[in-house]
This record gives sequence, C-alpha cells and structure tokens, in this order.
Amino acid sequence: MILAPLKTISPSRFDALRGCALQVVLEKSFPQGVLPPTVYMLAGSLVHRIAERAFLEAPSNAEELALIWQNETVKFEAQLQQYEATALLVPLRYSIPNFAVRKALFLRTWKYRPVVKNWKSGEDSKGGAEQFLTDAKHVVAGKADLLLHTSAGWVIKDFKTGMMHDPVTGQAKPEYALQLKLYAALCEQKHGEWPVRLVLENAAGEELDVPFTAAECSILLLEAQQLLVAINQRIGAGEVEQLASPDTIRCSRCQARPLCPVYVNEVRQAFPETTTDVLGAVVSFTVHNGRLQLLLELGGTRRQLLANGPASTRLHAQIAKLTGQEILVCNVKGTANVLTFTATDTSSAMPILAYST
Ligand code: SF4
Repeated sequence: MILAPLKTISPSRFDALRGCALQVVLEKSFPQGVLPPTVYMLAGSLVHRIAERAFLEAPSNAEELALIWQNETVKFEAQLQQYEATALLVPLRYSIPNFAVRKALFLRTWKYRPVVKNWKSGEDSKGGAEQFLTDAKHVVAGKADLLLHTSAGWVIKDFKTGMMHDPVTGQAKPEYALQLKLYAALCEQKHGEWPVRLVLENAAGEELDVPFTAAECSILLLEAQQLLVAINQRIGAGEVEQLASPDTIRCSRCQARPLCPVYVNEVRQAFPETTTDVLGAVVSFTVHNGRLQLLLELGGTRRQLLANGPASTRLHAQIAKLTGQEILVCNVKGTANVLTFTATDTSSAMPILAYST
C-alpha cells in the first residue's frame, strides 16, 4: 500500500493537520484501514446532517422536522450499509444508545426559523448552501455550510450541533474559528471581497460571531499552502515518521492509530500497562452463547479478550479472517492482572498494515 501525497487541505481538517499531519495523511491514504466510527460518532454525524438539512429546508412545524429526521436517517443508513465495518450498525435506532431520547431532545431544542432567502438561487454571485471554495492554487478547498451575499456584504455561516464555545476562553472553539477564517480567505480569493461576518450557529438558533482580520486570514491561508508543500516533501522523501506528533490524548482519540507506525511501536514497547489498546497476533477465537473469547500473543505472552453482546458480534466480524495476523484492538478495559481484557461499546479490531511511500 502506498502513502499518497495530499492533493488539497480542507479548512475543516486544518486544525487536525496542524496537530498531527500523519493522522490526516493516513486517513486520506487508507480510509479502509482507520478504525470504524463508534456509535457515538455516528450519532454525532447523523444529528449534524439532520441539522444541516433542517437549517436549509427551514421546517415550520414538528411534523416537517420529524420527516427530515426520518429521511436523513434512511439516507445515512443506506451509506453505512455499503461498508462491512458499519453495515452491522444498521438500523441505528438499535445500535445508537438512547436513540429515541436523542431524537426527542433534538426535536424539542430545534428553533424554527424562516427560510434563508436565495440559498437555492444557483447564482454564484449570491452564494448559497454548501458553497465550494478554493484558493487560486487549488490546494486549500472545502464547502462552507452557508455563504450569503447580504446588503452589508458576504456572511459565512457554519452550523454546529455540539458546544460552540471553548469552555476556558468563552470564545468560539479555536478549531471552529480557524475553519471559518480559512473560508474567509477563500471567499476573498473567489469573490474579491472579504466577508463582513463569520458566524457559528447551533440547533437552538444561538449565533456566535468569530472576530477576524483580513491579515490573519491571509496568513492562515499561506500557512496552509506551505504546510501542504512541506508534508508532501516528507512523504516523497519517505520521512513518514517525521509527520507524526504523538501526544497521549490526541493518539487515544486518533482513528488512524492502527495504521500509525509510531503509535504501534509505542504500544508494543509499553504494552499493556499504559494503554487501553491491545496489540498481538490472533492465536485463536471462539464464540459461545454470544460471548467472544479471543486469544492474542505478543512477545511470547498470551492475553485474552472477552466480549459480550453487540461488541462480541462486531469484533467477531472484524477478526474472522485475521488468524495469525497482528491486530490492534482499541478501546478495551484491562483487569488487574493485565492478562485479561474486556471489550467496551466502542471496541474495534483492525489489522496492522505495512505500507510504503
Ligand atoms: S496515533 Fe498519534 S502520532 Fe499516530 S497518527 Fe494518530 S495522532 Fe498522529
């Protein structure tokens, strides 16, 4: 497998790229090798999609909003069914914890608002929803949720379903502000005008302005362009490990960690006391009464992983063809003797893959 150079940088992934370039490169190069989304991530993605659609359709009552929820859920489930790793999670009402409660909360929280004028106009000069923006070099590119030409000038809006504020500063979360500032620079490149407002908006209709200057947005765009060149030079030179920025919290949340040589080596050396991931070659596995017992071996030591219920079904499907191969089972809980582990709601097993540049 080949590690591919980045073609573009998306404003929505710029913060992640700054944090650890290798994570984004691996996600793009080997989408099949990253950990499948957890049910909690799927719940977040689904609600975000429903909110985006509702912002644009502007339902006027609960029935219309519920219909958007249903339609978007059906479309999302159809996409999940195309991939072995996520097909098992359909229907989502059974796999996402408290699905009915999440739905009721969303329907209750939603602020009904008038339809945004001209978002469907199709005229570039008026902007609209999901507007594709790119710089002159075509290396920074992405879709802004809403770009509107008002009487005062351009307004760029991004819809968020979670918390918009940074709990420490009370300002917009830095990653959200960064994303909007890059869109501002791309708007200037496309339309020759800087926006007058950058705004975050949530399901309850609360708006949060992101202050910005043209100078800082231009500098960010230049940084993104230079970062892409620097990353691709490293990939071309085979200096993959130099792209990694390991950090305990970042790595523990990284969906690309089964693919990351730096992380896998750290787990191999620290195994098993300092991690919630288990590495080893699959020796054997059995399933009895819906309970999976998996035996792994690393460095001559054998450890077992036990899983029940949905975690057992999911892990069984993931390891069924991997006997003898080295795998990483992520998000597990170790017992005191560190020889036995139990699976959790978010446990997933992925093979360790070798790749080149
Ligand atoms: S595991 Fe850590 S170092 Fe490796 S790609 Fe992910 S964030 Fe980067």
